[in-house]
Amino acid sequence: MIEEFSAGGVLFKDGKVLLIKNPSGVWTLPKGLVEEGEEPKETALREVWEETGIRGRVLSEIGDITYWYMREKQKIKKRVIYYLMEYVEGEPRPSWEVQEAGFFSLEEAKIMLKYKGDKEIFERALKLLPSFLD
Ligand code: ATP
Repeated sequence: MIEEFSAGGVLFKDGKVLLIKNPSGVWTLPKGLVEEGEEPKETALREVWEETGIRGRVLSEIGDITYWYMREKQKIKKRVIYYLMEYVEGEPRPSWEVQEAGFFSLEEAKIMLKYKGDKEIFERALKLLPSFLD
């Protein structure tokens, strides 16, 4: 079994959350593989920026999820750690890696997110967020 480790962000701007549509056509949270020598927090900020054109700032860690998928007849176990982020700068523009990127209301996001892990992380992010709002 192959194991992968990625990091991603739940980034909020004015009560909206940043989502991407992945190559499978599924709306999800921006993330990517943690590279050698990189802190997961740095990976999460880099991937949010690369995939969406948005610069963020980490507020706190949210937690991690694990899922399995198949690639070339190999079973891959993947862990993804997520960080709560606030908006710093930029306009959403999808990179070549993703089909779309944009900000959506919390109600829209709840419907758009399909993966179980994404729904869990999003709910945890919503619980953490109020303590960072002034
Ligand atoms: P990364 O974005 O970490 O570089 P990747 O683009 O290589 O990763 P994934 O996004 O993990 O790969 O996608 C691999 C498979 O897992 C795809 O079939 C995708 O639809 C599915 N997948 C992606 N995110 C999730 C998730 N949160 N839960 C379950 N399956 C997922």
